[in-house]
Amino acid sequence: MSLATDLWSRALHALPGGVSSPVRAFQAVDGDPIFYRQGQGSRFEDLEGRSYLDFVMSWGPLILGHAHPTVVEVVQAAVARGMSFGAPCEDEVELAEKVRDWHPAVEKLRFVSSGTEAVMSAIRLARGATGRDRILKFSGCYHGHSDALLVAAGSGLVTFGEPASAGVPADFTHLTSVLQLDDDAALEAFFAEKGDELAVAVIEPLPANNGLLVQRKAFLLKLRELTEKHGALLLFDEVISGFRLGKGGASEAYEITPDLVTFGKIMGGGMPVGAFGGSQALMDHLAPLGPVYQAGTLSGNPVAMAAGLATLEVLEGQDAWTRLESLGQRLEQGLAQKSAGKELPFHLVRVGSLFWLAPRDPETVRSAEALPSDFGEAYRPIHGALLEQGIYLAPSAYEVGFLSTAHSEQDVDRLVTALAAFAH
Ligand code: PMP
Repeated sequence: MSLATDLWSRALHALPGGVSSPVRAFQAVDGDPIFYRQGQGSRFEDLEGRSYLDFVMSWGPLILGHAHPTVVEVVQAAVARGMSFGAPCEDEVELAEKVRDWHPAVEKLRFVSSGTEAVMSAIRLARGATGRDRILKFSGCYHGHSDALLVAAGSGLVTFGEPASAGVPADFTHLTSVLQLDDDAALEAFFAEKGDELAVAVIEPLPANNGLLVQRKAFLLKLRELTEKHGALLLFDEVISGFRLGKGGASEAYEITPDLVTFGKIMGGGMPVGAFGGSQALMDHLAPLGPVYQAGTLSGNPVAMAAGLATLEVLEGQDAWTRLESLGQRLEQGLAQKSAGKELPFHLVRVGSLFWLAPRDPETVRSAEALPSDFGEAYRPIHGALLEQGIYLAPSAYEVGFLSTAHSEQDVDRLVTALAAFAH
């Protein structure tokens, strides 16, 4: 029995489904999960020493690739100084200031330890600040696994075909309204009826948990206008798009400023970090200044803050976004050239360094409802064939691919060649 097979059978006995987060279990594709041994740049090695070109990048945090030398050095130094104090630290203030300088919606920021916590806390803040209870989300958008948001969510939930989760009382979700993305008429009808009782509308401005469902700017603008008109807040969940689309994330890219914004992933450089931010007036509703309670033993953890700050500094120093865009263009153009005159079983959707293999013309897939229910089947052989060649894509058709600054042109060309082989 190989080391990985042995470990996987032990995992299945020690962890539910063998994993600590469902989509890792590979149930949506063929084969067993990979146990990573180490990563460097755009590659990682499994337990048997097999090398893979990685396009998952820890689901987004590793925008600089695995084990970036600067981040590793900074983290090692931080660890040596002490791993947790449960007290304010210098990097926490610096990271908050940097994000304030970069993101149009942020005057103040509170750190937490995951994206889930960030959105959950931001929603509590929105309710506390507006004195209203109802929230609005969009089907296919994933905002973590807190009770009120586990309604028509994407990510692992779509992979398993579950509309929501057992263990979430219906009473907890009665105050969560759900609309389809890309439907202006439904948006207007909802606000006409319920707008004045709405605390906050939460959306991924670039929905990336149910495929990459690129929204029309006009739809996001309408949401901005309607929330403002009805005295409700707008929360952009930038856990994926934050720092990936540029310094100011999707808010800057779309030139739309939300009232609240949530971050995770890149902001921790691979360490467990989340944050939510907004105007000073709004954020000061939080304890200890205001009545909205929110706290965390490991929030603003010094090692995590050091990793996040180092990551943002490297991104800035390298003008990483220009490079990421050019790698993304190379993928898009390369695939178009190599498959010219032929049919591919998917359409590449690409925004900056995010990509997705869509089942239909991207113009027609802007909502979860527009996706054929069986398209995961078509993805299995593609995932399997690439894995055989040592190219690792997410083990689910609904998850997006991530490019990093550590990917070389040759890495992208390898992906192009592997994908173009499906053209006929
Ligand atoms: N919001 C969005 C947009 C996400 O993509 C995710 C995670 N993929 C979350 C929230 C939850 O973050 P975490 O997994 O860190 O709890």
